[in-house]
Amino acid sequence: MPEPILFVVDDDAATLQSLAEVLERRFGADYRILTDASPASALARIGEACERSEKVALVVADVWTAGTSPDWFVRARELCPGVGRCVLVGWADARAYPIIRRALALGQAETYLLKPWGHPEERLYPVVSEMLASWARTALPQPAILRIVGERWSPRFVELRDLAARNSVASEFLAHDSAEGQRLLRDLGHRGRLPAVIFGDQVLSDPTNAEIAEMLGGHIEPDGGLYDLVIVGAGPAGLSAAVYGASDGLRTLVIESKAPGGQAGTTSMIRNYLGFPRGISGADLALRAQEQANALGAEFLIMREVTSLALQGDEWSVALTGNTAVRARAVLVATGVTYNRLEVDGLDALVGKGVFYGPATMEAPALAGQEVFLVGAGNSAGQAAVHLARYAATVTLLARGASLGSSMSDYLVKQIGRTDNIRIRFNTALVRVHGQNHLEALEVRDKAKETTDRLRASALFVLIGAGPHTAWLAKMVQHDAQGYVLTGPNVIRDARAEPSWPLSRAPFPLETSLPGVFAAGDVRHRATRRVSAAVADGAIAVRSIWDYLNQE
Ligand SMILES: Cc1cc2nc3c(=O)[nH]c(=O)nc-3n(C[C@H](O)[C@H](O)[C@H](O)COP(=O)(O)OP(=O)(O)OC[C@H]3O[C@@H](n4cnc5c(N)ncnc54)[C@H](O)[C@@H]3O)c2cc1C
Repeated sequence: MPEPILFVVDDDAATLQSLAEVLERRFGADYRILTDASPASALARIGEACERSEKVALVVADVWTAGTSPDWFVRARELCPGVGRCVLVGWADARAYPIIRRALALGQAETYLLKPWGHPEERLYPVVSEMLASWARTALPQPAILRIVGERWSPRFVELRDLAARNSVASEFLAHDSAEGQRLLRDLGHRGRLPAVIFGDQVLSDPTNAEIAEMLGGHIEPDGGLYDLVIVGAGPAGLSAAVYGASDGLRTLVIESKAPGGQAGTTSMIRNYLGFPRGISGADLALRAQEQANALGAEFLIMREVTSLALQGDEWSVALTGNTAVRARAVLVATGVTYNRLEVDGLDALVGKGVFYGPATMEAPALAGQEVFLVGAGNSAGQAAVHLARYAATVTLLARGASLGSSMSDYLVKQIGRTDNIRIRFNTALVRVHGQNHLEALEVRDKAKETTDRLRASALFVLIGAGPHTAWLAKMVQHDAQGYVLTGPNVIRDARAEPSWPLSRAPFPLETSLPGVFAAGDVRHRATRRVSAAVADGAIAVRSIWDYLNQE
């Protein structure tokens, strides 16, 4: 098989030649650098290469070369699924920026490069290398470490697929009724419960996450002794606290039930985190943060879940699944939230490519002139609709009920009524979404009229509620009506009902109603649900924990 292709398209002959030369110098040993001045002929050649099963890793194309547009990049992906797409733009070309912003927001391209690029080591090579690395991660075959045989659509099979991907464990998933799945089970003599998880010659029947982690040789039992700080949850808040806790010299343990990164780890591109102008994948950010915390001395237990907390003398005992408990002088609850997922055909594949969970307000300016849809009828859906309507051509709210009044505040209902470009479809359910590489259309069912319509759509926001991960803690700690944990000045000091704040001193910033137990990130009452806010919370919590541990 010939080397993968890196395709450059620009109608300016000098740029085309010089870009091809610098790319050849650095990547020529592993990639074929092909060029074309015409986007139409480039597209035809890209299509032909993919038809011959050759691999096209990356296309770099000038934004103004006649015929290139977001549609050109979309077509390139249709012809070669998985190809990385980079838009070339003149660095002072203000007219190009809105086009690029929209293309990035709607998942029509992944990154951009500025020309002239100066010394290629500074910006050009890092951007291209990062694109090639992310392409290689999914496009180049990796030998499977784990093989999992189970019922294709059983919740645990689906959960394991997600867990393996998020923990970067190359895995092969086989349906139990497929010829290959049956042969494997027969060869192993496995008659136990499914899913069967296979690693080398070891087979586990319907194992827990911790059992799988142990089988893979992961660190699943704590080193033991008394920790200064035990962090529950390794989303952005927990990872940030791990970095600051360990770097401040606290003996720090992080316990994570699924995979580092939390919600952020599930998003293909975070574009509003400071210092990453081209965005960063959530998985990459999580990996970097975990490595940083590790290097500073934090200990991690991944795929272990915290189940309860108990005060023993002046220490906290943190219990984990599998009858393990760890001792802590202070605990940080950074367990975040889960957005309720919508089970609709085609939706999961388009998350980040026109489909967004949560308000994703940063995407709004990129949606100027577009048809935008929202699923939900609560206050967050109402607020998002009003915000998006400032940019989009139309915003359509899809509401299951016959009115908004019972689920949305009156002021929002009125504001929506006064906004010309917001429409509401009552009694409506989303039944299917369409789009190969990005969202193109929705199918909605009007339950009252019993009709189904197909509607053109550029973006869809799903806002059907979110809940904090606090069930294991709820009875012990003060929280609001939705279960979000109260901290610092929000803790009620003379609560009539338990649990009340027991000390004469005021709680430290981010301290909960349990002295020595702190909370950070989305799990907190009225948290700003952003990666940066969670990271900031982690740092602030460590400062408070330091003060708590060193108080007179
Ligand atoms: C699809 C999506 C895209 C997003 N995109 C952006 C974006 O582009 N920019 C932005 O700023 N924000 C974005 N957000 C929001 C952002 O990801 C969150 O605000 C942020 O992740 C919150 O961090 P956190 O650490 O508080 O909680 P989380 O990220 O929710 O992490 C909590 C962690 O705790 C673990 N946990 C829970 N309970 C337990 C337990 N009992 N024991 C052990 N571990 C436990 C969970 O498994 C999880 O890993 C996005 C969110 C989603 C869902």
